[in-house]
Amino acid sequence: MTDSGRVAVIGAGWAGIAAAVSLVERGIPTILFDAAPQPGGRARTAPALGIEVDNGQHIAIGAYTAVLDLARSIGLAPERVFVRIALTLQQRDATGILLSLRAPKDAGQVGLAFAFATARGLSAGQKLKMARNWPRLLNAPATDISVSEFLRAVGQPERAIKLLWDPLCIATLNTAPDRASAQLFVRVLKESFDAACSGAADLMLPACDLGAALPQPAVAWLHDRGVAVHLGERITGLETDGRRFKLATGRREYEVRSVVVAVPPDSCARLIEGIPALASVAATYARIGTQPICTVYLRYPPEVALPFPVLGLTGTTTQWLVDRRTCAQDGVIAAVISADGPHMALSNEELISLVQEEIGRCVPELPPASDARVIREKRATFDAVVGIEALRPAAATAVPGLVLAGDWTATGLPATLEGAVRSGRTAAEMLLQIKPTVGADL
Ligand SMILES: Cc1cc2nc3c(=O)[nH]c(=O)nc-3n(C[C@H](O)[C@H](O)[C@H](O)COP(=O)(O)OP(=O)(O)OC[C@H]3O[C@@H](n4cnc5c(N)ncnc54)[C@H](O)[C@@H]3O)c2cc1C
Repeated sequence: MTDSGRVAVIGAGWAGIAAAVSLVERGIPTILFDAAPQPGGRARTAPALGIEVDNGQHIAIGAYTAVLDLARSIGLAPERVFVRIALTLQQRDATGILLSLRAPKDAGQVGLAFAFATARGLSAGQKLKMARNWPRLLNAPATDISVSEFLRAVGQPERAIKLLWDPLCIATLNTAPDRASAQLFVRVLKESFDAACSGAADLMLPACDLGAALPQPAVAWLHDRGVAVHLGERITGLETDGRRFKLATGRREYEVRSVVVAVPPDSCARLIEGIPALASVAATYARIGTQPICTVYLRYPPEVALPFPVLGLTGTTTQWLVDRRTCAQDGVIAAVISADGPHMALSNEELISLVQEEIGRCVPELPPASDARVIREKRATFDAVVGIEALRPAAATAVPGLVLAGDWTATGLPATLEGAVRSGRTAAEMLLQIKPTVGADL
């Protein structure tokens, strides 16, 4: 098969991988490119502390059904990718435990209601108010407003906002609640707490480093099925004559029949701006902002463990501590700081000292870490601000045979592994739907 009969997938992040797997499952010859030397994009393996960690700590939830389906599609048992644990939330500060909530594993709506009813740290009156206003909390505003504005409008108690909803907003939308989109936040709440299937709110922590968890096995699976995987090859030019697409890497040109562009919005804008029918939307995508995530990896003796695999800190720069025991990294704890803030102006040494000092105050049972390393992802996710949904494009474009994928496309979800995988699958399905336009052999 020559390249001209293939579909090219640009980007081997979780979206591009999902698209390529979907295409191959339908027998469509595929060629996959990524500028980076390894697959996985923003969810990949990275070295720190002399071991393989991730470019940033990732947490999934049971509602990530597309991710789990993708794992199964390439022959991976879900438990080989994620360790599933019951939803457990604990928020602490220097005075002790402020909030503690534990749901049974595989909890359905009854189990979750029980978890909220029995949570420690909220008064009976506050819980009653939350229970009464639960339906309002799950009803997205028709016109987007900020999460802060929304939570108050739907009668959430201030203490629940501070200890539960604000931390969840920053963790899931990677955007401060006073700027974040309430429409997106409600979608997160519905997918986790209002899902028909039980276990949607379970926490799923990677069972090994992220690259080994899915992207590397997926690339091996694709390679075994005849997909040409070109890592370390950035696509720098994309043209079409209306029937075929020409991709240029600077070293080589490839002619293909269809293209899935599965790259972040700024890269996407650069790739498509030269195609006249897409020039104006390219300018819109270039306007989508980004937010950072910092992960500070800390090394302790292997017997040191957190009381819960995921522990929240309140009133500190450090937001979450994650015990990497689930991925066989006993004694390694990831301190996560989502979204922009004054910490971005600190040097790595200053940030490590701050995080260590905060852990010392809030989790005094931990000894000082013997080693630490900061990984900053400056463009970790799109900025999930009020009104963002209006800027996110569907998979289909004005050019037949060219579709978009990526966590930033119109998945209805924030920038997540699940959104990325769903987008990749949708993009592949979209190409199949427009079969007559892209050629009989698709
Ligand atoms: C630190 C951090 C923590 C996160 N935490 C979580 C979490 O806890 N839970 C969660 O669900 N999500 C989390 N996310 C978000 C999640 O990682 C992303 O939503 C997801 O990985 C995006 O996948 P993608 O395929 O859409 O994009 P990307 O991963 O960005 O993939 C795009 C790929 O395209 C390649 N590329 C770009 N331009 C070109 C070009 N011109 N030619 C060829 N290749 C190109 C890039 O190299 C990249 O590999 C986190 C992200 C970060 C960075």
